[in-house]
Amino acid sequence: MKSVPKIFIKSIVLLLVLSILTGCSRQPVSYTAADIAMGTVINQTIYTVGEDETGNITELIRRLEEDTLSWRIPGSEVARINLSAQGTPAGLSEELWEELLLLKAVSEQSGGAFDFTLGSLTGLWNIDAQALPDAGEIRIPTEEEISLALNRSGYEKVVLEDGCVTLEEGVRLDLGAAGKGIACDRIGDYLRGTDISGAVISVGGSVLTYGEKPDGSPWQVGIIDPGDTSRLLGTLSLTGEWYISTSGDYERYVEVEGIRYHHILDPASGYPAHSGLHSVTVVCDSGILSDALSTACFVLGKDEGMALASLFGAEVLFVDEEGNIFLSEGLEGIFRRMEE
Ligand code: AMP
Ligand code: MG
Repeated sequence: MKSVPKIFIKSIVLLLVLSILTGCSRQPVSYTAADIAMGTVINQTIYTVGEDETGNITELIRRLEEDTLSWRIPGSEVARINLSAQGTPAGLSEELWEELLLLKAVSEQSGGAFDFTLGSLTGLWNIDAQALPDAGEIRIPTEEEISLALNRSGYEKVVLEDGCVTLEEGVRLDLGAAGKGIACDRIGDYLRGTDISGAVISVGGSVLTYGEKPDGSPWQVGIIDPGDTSRLLGTLSLTGEWYISTSGDYERYVEVEGIRYHHILDPASGYPAHSGLHSVTVVCDSGILSDALSTACFVLGKDEGMALASLFGAEVLFVDEEGNIFLSEGLEGIFRRMEE
């Protein structure tokens, strides 16, 4: 065997030492961004030794809404299902298939308090659009309209089989109660393929914490005071990857003659849910579940909501209409109330 020149070996060793030294000295840099996507505010802080990925993450959320989730955008997967799965099986992407299975499970386990087939009812109330500043005159639907929309809703009218979905005639999907959590899941998957070592990203009322901060301190996730949305009620102190979603009657609503009509509907009545709560925050290891469960728990109220969350291994924080706070056991020591 030919001997390798000494100078060659020396330069390889030098290169190795240099790359180890520079590798060790590369500290993550933080990038922050605030954008609008999915009809809500996206806030990002990421720590990375690589490039700024915040633009890619916002783009990912926009794509998810336009290509998959929005029933309002013609051509999205959900809009196409709402047209083509009426009595006929329609094929689903692998991800949406998994997601619809989970949403059907939450619908069943919550006894229909969460229901991903409320498209006719949510479209009728149209609170999201009516709550916009220039929406014009507010219209409360009539009893007849509500009962017609309820006849066209119900998770039991959805069949999920062999990667396909079939809806009974007239049934429309609305994934609005889980969409922001789904976005957080997709972001989590994306982050795993990047140099990002830590991130906290909020998509409206759903938040993802990921990895760690360079100084190793926990993530602090603020919980809005539903009685005064300009301030925080307290913070959750979390380490590693968590998904946190809040549903509240303060998020989107219209007021008519002193009555607040908010965007979380009770499928049992067809009207905005009144279960004695102002807001519900759910913490778990899945975005879609945290979001779907926060809506379900809001409709169910404190006691039934607590039982549902525990069934899915989720932790929950309730704020009732009087401002009292109730925590599941796992959040004790994690939630810190703001000093008055
Ligand atoms: P969230 O803010 O996550 O609680 O979701 C509220 C949105 O989900 C609404 O704007 C509706 O589009 C939809 N929605 C309202 N009520 C329900 C319900 N009971 N189950 C499922 N989706 C709902
Ligand atoms: Mg939700």
